[in-house]
Amino acid sequence: MNLILLGGPGAGKGTQAKKLIDEYQIPQISTGDMLRAALADKTELGLKAKEYMDKGALVPDEVVIGLIEERLAQGDCKKGYILDGFPRTVKQAEALEKVLDKLGQKIDHVVSVEVDNEELVKRLSGRRTCRNCGAMFHVMFNAPRKDGVCDTCGGELYQRGDDNEETVRNRLKVYEDQTAPLIDYYMKKGLLRTVPGMGSIDDIYGRIKAVIQG
Ligand code: AMP
Repeated sequence: MNLILLGGPGAGKGTQAKKLIDEYQIPQISTGDMLRAALADKTELGLKAKEYMDKGALVPDEVVIGLIEERLAQGDCKKGYILDGFPRTVKQAEALEKVLDKLGQKIDHVVSVEVDNEELVKRLSGRRTCRNCGAMFHVMFNAPRKDGVCDTCGGELYQRGDDNEETVRNRLKVYEDQTAPLIDYYMKKGLLRTVPGMGSIDDIYGRIKAVIQG
């Protein structure tokens, strides 16, 4: 199963992707995680991407398209994958189609997780991420058992640099201007499945499973 998760920043794509990979045993491919890893390794690409990420802007299409092209050709993608945070522009979606054609693959479902903007700001400004395993928590809605410590692996929790209110508002605008047109794009292709993104993590997961199992 090849899946795209669409939705604004903080809509729960990463959280839901982690549940899907556990159940379906297919990789989550997050361009945001790939860029953050490149930055942690201080590669040229990572340092260049940081300039955009810090402002909440999109990294240039060519950069992320190159990353995805390389990633999808790897062996663990043969059984399927979950694209989380890619594509984010129509140009990226068109490039993805070409890459998939070459690989003889296709997207089965595009799941759009819908949450209103004020809720997204609340979720992101309280979000804490594990430096070690990437698990996500929220200081109020999904607090870790011990302050600052990951329940899953004991790693240190931190607040992403782009999860402050000003950058979040910019990310929301970027989403509306550049990513939301993908909803129409995939609707026209008959691939769009819309899921309300309010409620508990398990409720939302149940809705996602219902739409992908048809
Ligand atoms: P995310 O972890 O998906 O919220 O992404 C964090 C940041 O990484 C975004 O705000 C962008 O700066 C950058 N980024 C991630 N994925 C993409 C993409 N597909 N296209 C452009 N920039 C991206």
